[in-house]
Amino acid sequence: MNPSSDVFAYRDGTLCCEDVALADIVSRAGTPCYVYSARGILDRFRAYEEALGDLTHRVCYAVKANSNLAVLSLLAKAGAGFDIVSGGELFRVIRAGGDPAGVVFSGVGKTADEIEYALDQGIHSFNCESENELALIDALAARRGVKARVALRVNPNVEAGTHPYISTGMREHKFGIDISEVEGVYDRARALPNLLIEGVGCHIGSQILDTDALIGAIDVMLGLVERLRAAGHPIRHLDLGGGLGVRYRPHEETPEIRAFIARVKEKVRGRDLFVMVEPGRSIVAESGVLLTRVLYRKRTGSREFVVVDAAMNDLMRPSLYQSHHEIIPLRASSRGRIRADVVGPVCESGDFLALDRELENVLPGDLLAVWTAGAYGFVLSSNYNSRVRPPEVLIEGSSWCVVRSRETYEDLVRGE
Ligand SMILES: *Cc1c(COP(=O)(O)O)cnc(C)c1O
Repeated sequence: MNPSSDVFAYRDGTLCCEDVALADIVSRAGTPCYVYSARGILDRFRAYEEALGDLTHRVCYAVKANSNLAVLSLLAKAGAGFDIVSGGELFRVIRAGGDPAGVVFSGVGKTADEIEYALDQGIHSFNCESENELALIDALAARRGVKARVALRVNPNVEAGTHPYISTGMREHKFGIDISEVEGVYDRARALPNLLIEGVGCHIGSQILDTDALIGAIDVMLGLVERLRAAGHPIRHLDLGGGLGVRYRPHEETPEIRAFIARVKEKVRGRDLFVMVEPGRSIVAESGVLLTRVLYRKRTGSREFVVVDAAMNDLMRPSLYQSHHEIIPLRASSRGRIRADVVGPVCESGDFLALDRELENVLPGDLLAVWTAGAYGFVLSSNYNSRVRPPEVLIEGSSWCVVRSRETYEDLVRGE
């Protein structure tokens, strides 16, 4: 009935991650608290890496999914490249020991400061999203006497079948350059002498469960590569973005990394392309949970509430995307089931972790795990209501450590 995964499971009635009982972490680190499994993260990264195998490739972890330095360091040591969307993320990658030469810089609104910083650090390439941006990178590269490697992020006009906020590959989205216009952009960009325009890229959305959409985008991109090469553009790399979906509900059918990459390989093999992928969620989501404690039970009219100490400022996905996270107790009980809203202390009606949810009949003081919270969890947190942000813990086998401490009231007013 309760979900379990490769790294989170009940042992003797107690929820464990790898070889650590999560209740032990709570007794030292308190709640709310994010917990990540190093093995879960590395196994998924290696699934990509091993499946890509002999193809010339780089797995560029999308830093925005979970940018904790310890997570980045783990992946850097395992040989990951990184996909960044800001100067701050580049700073984190470097601080974590990542090699800038393995970094691709994505995003629709890179500033001059960010581009200069990335050029100074010698990143691999920029995924450019407009002609204005190409002109700016060219000018800034000229001033430094360097050549900037760029790819154009193409909008292949493919429906990703995911939530509107995380779907990015259709004509009406702000992302990328429309497939029908992009060849003209490549032609005009030949006039920019400080760019090495060697790549094409796309990223059609996130939490994609139907891999046919992703494969369809690859077909569109390969057709484009052929046309560009025929027009004399030396296209050497193909960046397929991220977007593979993960299991948020216990019995959801989700794509398997190795099976998906096997299909990708079939498509791109023998085309003399350096292939990059940018997975974020599919590496970290299922490797993390958010631990929280039940504060109160209450009822208003016919509605039952479980008030917990984690709120929308800690985990925004339910409020922002109406996304589903399983919520399960750290200790199995036999008190039966209830149907309730699970809400936090923030003063917003939109502050909930679950609505009208069947869950264990929990009581004040009980500990809960909010499942599949390793991606777009802590990184989306805020200090709203002047709440301190929770700590993050990394587990490796039977040991664990706090890799970001709980903020203090002093942290809240720093800089004011
Ligand atoms: C967000 C993002 C990713 C990662 O997406 P996931 O769904 O987390 O795999 C990859 N590339 C780009 C350009 C992104 O914006």
